[in-house]
Amino acid sequence: MIQAVKGICPDILISKGREEHLKLLEQYKAGIVRYSFNKAIYAHESVKEALIRDNGEKCCFCESSSPRDFHAVEHYRPKTAYRDGIDTERKYPGYFWLAYEWHNLFIICNACNTVFKNDIFPLEAGSTRAHHNNLKTEGEIPSIINPLDDPSQHLRYRAYKLFPTSDVGRNTIELLGLNHPLQTDNLRQNYWAQKLQKDREEYYNLMKFIYLNGGAEVVSAYSNRLMRWSYMIKCGLEDKFKY
Ligand SMILES: [Zn+2]
Repeated sequence: MIQAVKGICPDILISKGREEHLKLLEQYKAGIVRYSFNKAIYAHESVKEALIRDNGEKCCFCESSSPRDFHAVEHYRPKTAYRDGIDTERKYPGYFWLAYEWHNLFIICNACNTVFKNDIFPLEAGSTRAHHNNLKTEGEIPSIINPLDDPSQHLRYRAYKLFPTSDVGRNTIELLGLNHPLQTDNLRQNYWAQKLQKDREEYYNLMKFIYLNGGAEVVSAYSNRLMRWSYMIKCGLEDKFKY
């Protein structure tokens, strides 16, 4: 995973998204539990562009970088319905009120979207589902990593495979299939072998440049560049394959 960074919220979510949001709340008050959503708003090209840019042009979960047509807009808290696990029943409604919420939106690859994440959204035992807390998410402790959080608190990476360092990390790997052959063979292994090598070369060239030239600007540019690199790449560079 890569820690997502949120840039400026696209206008369409503020204008049209807000209108839809208010309509949904009215329906909720009327007792409706199944809602329809306007994909032309939450998955508008300006939203996708912003999400792809903010997530380093990678899937928010498996880090695959595939052609843009294969990327969809992901709702971390699923909008229509949610499931506690892979084979558990689908419960309605989902987090309909977050359908157009910028901080709930991410970019996701086709495999993660359709095969793995889908509408899975489990919580830690003892935490309170927002549906039972006046639609407030503050009482929730999700069992899968929020792409806005630092994944290095929960995951280690070695030889193209992820290892958990927390229960949330373990759930994330298992429920989202991050070590599934579909991900490791087709999407990650070949891609990351090349990417790691390429970024290593960039890193060494950059360090050489800093060593020869110094200066705050160069160090600043280096820091920004490093932030764009994924946790996996950082592990590779820092040789943290020690799990
Ligand atoms: Zn993915």
